[in-house]
Amino acid sequence: MKITNLGFPRIGSQRELKFALEQYWRGEISQEALVAVGNTLKARHWQWQAEAGVELIPVGDFAYYDHVLDLTATLNAIPKRHRAVDDLGNIKPIDLDTLFTAARGKGHSAQQVCAAKMTKFFNTNYHYQVAELHEGQTFSIAYEQIFDDVTQAQQLGHTPKPVLLGPVTFLHLSTAVGDFDKLSLLTPLLTVYQQILQRFAEQGVTWVQLDEPVLAAELSPQWQQAITQSYTNLADNKPAELNILLASYYGSIAHHHSLVSQLPVQGLHLDLVSDSSQLDLFSNSLTAEQVLSAGVINGRNVWAADIDLIAQQLKPLADKLADRLWLAPSCSLLHTPVSLDSETQLSASLYEQLAFAKQKLTELQDLKGLLTSNDHSTKQQIINRCQTRRSNKAANADKHVATRLTKLTPDSFQRQSCFEQRISAQHQKLNLPLLPTTTIGSFPQTAAIRGLRKRWRTGDLSSQEYQRQLEQVTKDTIERQLKIGLDVLVHGEAERNDMVEYFAQDLNGVGFTDFGWVQSYGSRCVKPPLIFGDVSREKPMTVEWACYAQSLTEKPVKGMLTGPVTILHWSFAREDIPREQIANQIALAIRDEVADLEQAGISIIQIDEPAFREGLPIKQSQWQHYFDWAVAAFKLSASVVQDNTQIHTHMCYSEFNDSITAIAAMDADVITIETSRSQMTLLDTFEYFQYPNDIGPGVYDIHSPNIPSVDDIVTLMTRAAEKIPVKQLWINPDCGLKTRTWDEVEPALKNVVEAAKVLRRQY
Ligand code: GLN
Ligand code: ZN
Repeated sequence: MKITNLGFPRIGSQRELKFALEQYWRGEISQEALVAVGNTLKARHWQWQAEAGVELIPVGDFAYYDHVLDLTATLNAIPKRHRAVDDLGNIKPIDLDTLFTAARGKGHSAQQVCAAKMTKFFNTNYHYQVAELHEGQTFSIAYEQIFDDVTQAQQLGHTPKPVLLGPVTFLHLSTAVGDFDKLSLLTPLLTVYQQILQRFAEQGVTWVQLDEPVLAAELSPQWQQAITQSYTNLADNKPAELNILLASYYGSIAHHHSLVSQLPVQGLHLDLVSDSSQLDLFSNSLTAEQVLSAGVINGRNVWAADIDLIAQQLKPLADKLADRLWLAPSCSLLHTPVSLDSETQLSASLYEQLAFAKQKLTELQDLKGLLTSNDHSTKQQIINRCQTRRSNKAANADKHVATRLTKLTPDSFQRQSCFEQRISAQHQKLNLPLLPTTTIGSFPQTAAIRGLRKRWRTGDLSSQEYQRQLEQVTKDTIERQLKIGLDVLVHGEAERNDMVEYFAQDLNGVGFTDFGWVQSYGSRCVKPPLIFGDVSREKPMTVEWACYAQSLTEKPVKGMLTGPVTILHWSFAREDIPREQIANQIALAIRDEVADLEQAGISIIQIDEPAFREGLPIKQSQWQHYFDWAVAAFKLSASVVQDNTQIHTHMCYSEFNDSITAIAAMDADVITIETSRSQMTLLDTFEYFQYPNDIGPGVYDIHSPNIPSVDDIVTLMTRAAEKIPVKQLWINPDCGLKTRTWDEVEPALKNVVEAAKVLRRQY
């Protein structure tokens, strides 16, 4: 029985890769120095895996920027605009700099080379670079990194198992430039995959892992056919000594059982964490030679696994398959932090519940021990450890939270009155002009503000002084907004480092790590909070700041909260209760905050849900269920208020046509959304749906330093008013302004206010 792994995080336990990349981009270190850091990390991670008993070490999972981009390079599909040209005008070979140009773009304004598009990798928080494919395009091997890595691993004494995204998933994730069917590129693509397999075989590789996470989705007959065609083709043309492990993950592939079980591959990897029933289904249809790689340790989370229970479940199959059963994480460990070794501040009770990437390998080793070893005392120790951990966890449950959840009634999820009634009560109370102007929440997080926070964290600044300085910033922010002439103000969020962590810090049942970083894209990492227990609010989280800001002006200042769905998606959540239950627990904590804000005299409360859409399951058939509980959690957080308290929400992605029913069901009084880059065409969905509540379509793109003119804004809002009754419209930027400077923000918002005046005369 082999232990195997699908991929290891590359960023480094101290984020070494991040820092080296950023130094390289700033021109502070040479490419050799960057590559040296990469080589050290690869060697270290291979070594850890080998020490944990992983026999086939994944190689090709390491990428300086993005593994999907590396594959695009390997296949020679990097767009021309990203390729460097020599003095004679010839295109230079792809190297690391080519990849960085593709990922990050190059130059400014007129000479600017746009980066490739980046988007979420399936339902994870990892973002990949989207390949741009053209009709009739050809492929060839054009980048050697993965072959070099194979050699490097071999030289260090390992047996590498190269890992590549499979041809169908690669095509699926790519974008077709122009109007053609991406699948028309499958045949030429397969020719290059054949060549790649040939190269691996020449290097002495015996197993290659082809990842087809697209199998977790529902596929049209054409895409199913592409799977069959690909794996038949590769089986017919591969060197005999090379074995293919077809890996699926991020979801069950039970719905593709008949398709997948007929593929002539030598091994199949299943994500059993997402659906353990696949085990019986697929093990019964294995051929006598096929290997089953059982993905039993969750590669997407941070919790220690119940390996005693997993062992019980696997035992019958382990006896049957013997060495044809491999033990693996459910997916690449890319989505987990690297190692618990660096954590020194965690409580003992939380620490024992955790397993990061390195510890997950040990879990696999222990699991193998439980299944194959005769050392009963060691086995008993492992079992005892699991049982103790479970009973400790159960003992930590917060009964109040559970009781509160059971007492919820349908009314807890509903505002008192319908929107029509509420909005008239709100108009009466707030007395806002037509087309009210507002912003999304944050104002520039200047170097000075970040400096304050840093000095406070390191103890150079007392809490009192920190507070006093932030009050100054908030006061200044209010004064500037008053001078600009906005109608609904915000306090500016100067005190917040991050929109999830800031709240999570005051929630019971949520913990934090020092080094629990996970790659989001390129050198960007996130450090999600850990929701380990029942969630409740420790104390009011924002009321003081909201009241302070409101005390400075007669105009309404919005209370600013992060919504339950976003807090959940941007955290690592426990797995012993359903996600919807966790969402409701968080919702109750936010609801308490909403109630306190209202009580304190705040008349508008914004509950941001930028990650609302991120929780969508891969399978469309599961969307409705997701929408149901996500909408319910939002409403639970918001519905506590009186009719005349106005609830806003904000979402910053640009796709609503598949979710408009859910967005409307959230029943926020006002929603602010990103629309400026689409020239308001996004509102078509809202128009068609006859979206009933108020909408603030963003009138300018906060990601760009450009300042919108009054005319630009008037034109956009006029277009908006053709789609949505003007009485429902607000005017605001696309998103929060924390990444901009005051020099950009002030003139832009002045123009927003000026445009509102022009428009009010018009309507
Ligand atoms: N209120 C937050 C801000 O303005 C919202 C950010 C977001 O949704 N991404 O920064
Ligand atoms: Zn936003």
